[in-house]
Amino acid sequence: MKLQKLVLASSNAKKLEELSALLSPLGIQLVPQRELGVAECDEPHCTFVENALAKARHAASMTGLPALADDSGLCVDALFGAPGVHSARYAGEPKSDERNNQKLVDALQNEANRNARFVCVITLARYAADPRPIIAEGEWRGEILRAPKGAGGFGYDPLFLDKESGLASAELPPEVKNRKSHRGQAMQAFIEKLKSS
Ligand code: IMP
Repeated sequence: MKLQKLVLASSNAKKLEELSALLSPLGIQLVPQRELGVAECDEPHCTFVENALAKARHAASMTGLPALADDSGLCVDALFGAPGVHSARYAGEPKSDERNNQKLVDALQNEANRNARFVCVITLARYAADPRPIIAEGEWRGEILRAPKGAGGFGYDPLFLDKESGLASAELPPEVKNRKSHRGQAMQAFIEKLKSS
């Protein structure tokens, strides 16, 4: 099946830009689901892969087009993988990076094990009931700092220590973060799988 047009199951402009840049050299056009009148669907599952698949299936079934979706978050070993799929709303509604970060600092206050990883899963459902969707995963391992550092990025970036550079993710230049990050890794893995599919 030659892919020419994909619907992106997200309204995030940054994701659209990043993914379009990777897919346009392959002759693939990406259309955000909102432009096709598709509303965001529920993400009820406890794993990234299930939520990404739910979003891709929903967009494919509403549009009849192949659909691309991603799901990502932070998993902390000492918290049994939390905040995980709840990363965006770890500290509840309304979603707030600042309150999420404070909750994480508090949760790890007396914890020596600071190991954590960002995870991103990207899925492609060629049809709503695709029995063999493409699934690509990326991971970025690091540690959770005791206090925020840096002014870049978003989400948990000020608390995530990249051990290789000794810098918080929020201190890394964007192009360095994009290369190292879970999202960058997942995108590269996805493109490889797509090319050989
Ligand atoms: P989503 O997959 O874009 O919905 O991301 C879920 C949540 O995970 C975000 O709201 C952030 O809290 C967190 N997150 C995902 N990727 C990153 C990242 O690169 N840096 C910091 N936080 C992230």
